Amino acid sequence: MRQILLPILFIFAGCASPGKQSADIQPVKFSERPKNIILLIGDGMALSQVSAGVYWIGVGKTAFEQFPIVGFHKSHSCNDLVTDSAAGATAFSCGEKTTNGTIGMLPPDNKPCRTILEELDARGLATGMVVSCSAPHATPASFIAHREIRAFTDEIALDYLKTQLDCFVGGGEHFFNDRSDHLNLEDTLKHRGYVLRRGTSMRNLPLDGSAPFMLFTSDREPPTASAGRQYLPGATASVCRYLEKRSDKGFFLMVEGSQIDWACHANDRNWLRAELFDFDKTIKKALEFAASNGETLVIVTGDHECGGLALTPGDTRKEFKPVFASRLHTTALVPVFAYGPKAELFSGLYDNTLIYDKMWEALGMQESK
Ligand code: MG
Ligand code: ZN
Repeated sequence: MRQILLPILFIFAGCASPGKQSADIQPVKFSERPKNIILLIGDGMALSQVSAGVYWIGVGKTAFEQFPIVGFHKSHSCNDLVTDSAAGATAFSCGEKTTNGTIGMLPPDNKPCRTILEELDARGLATGMVVSCSAPHATPASFIAHREIRAFTDEIALDYLKTQLDCFVGGGEHFFNDRSDHLNLEDTLKHRGYVLRRGTSMRNLPLDGSAPFMLFTSDREPPTASAGRQYLPGATASVCRYLEKRSDKGFFLMVEGSQIDWACHANDRNWLRAELFDFDKTIKKALEFAASNGETLVIVTGDHECGGLALTPGDTRKEFKPVFASRLHTTALVPVFAYGPKAELFSGLYDNTLIYDKMWEALGMQESK
């Protein structure tokens, strides 16, 4: 039977054996290769952020501990040991290291690279993105847009019209309907059959698979998880089921916990805590879908570390004190978690660009660069 126990029963109790948890995960029978890929990116989430999440949420209770395969990636960009999110996401989407700030383009002459989302869309798979930032923000942009500079957000929004993305859930509606060039991209999208909705409710969306949709959760950037933003886990669950109906060939879904990074830039531990709880819940939704589906590869990683986070001894022996060494990104190695058919490809220590190669290898398809 394909199932995964959520949550795992093991609960941190002093010095109880942590080895027990793996025995609680039921063996799952997977297909030989994945038909679907869910790539979840925690922006700014490296090992110390994952560690903080594990101890805040509770040992044995997190999604991270349910992955049978863990690896690490080297996040540096082509021109900087410390990457930004544009180069970081382009490494995943195109399989090449680019310069910091560049969206879906490669040096030396900024040639656009075809992203895995664009290529799988062209091959008839369904595609979607669910994020807690605005649509033109660097991470989602790097899967669908090609621009020299990440700050060209109006131009990045235009690139959303160049791929038949099946669904988008996230913020930034004003980039589509209140633009300096007075184009109304929402009219164009409606003309192409998109259902457009505003808010965070998944009701009144064509979740039966009958139409593509964009759900704008905010006009600009979505609120923080600590201010009550809650849509990411539920939207991820709904979108998995929706995408499954959109194509017999499978789907590619990118989900981003966008604000883990922003919390670390702000050195704000409470914000970080709320974002990690939210992202953990989101990963659990992806795992639940994958466990029931059996043909879905789930990959969780970050694009880079942010904040130089250290977990130092707290006031009591049962808590830690998060201390930030920086307000910027750092070059610490980033963990990669994989679950599902071909998950084993993701063990080891490799360049961030290999995430792209490994996704293609898992699908058993030849990538076209
Ligand atoms: Mg991001
Ligand atoms: Zn950042």
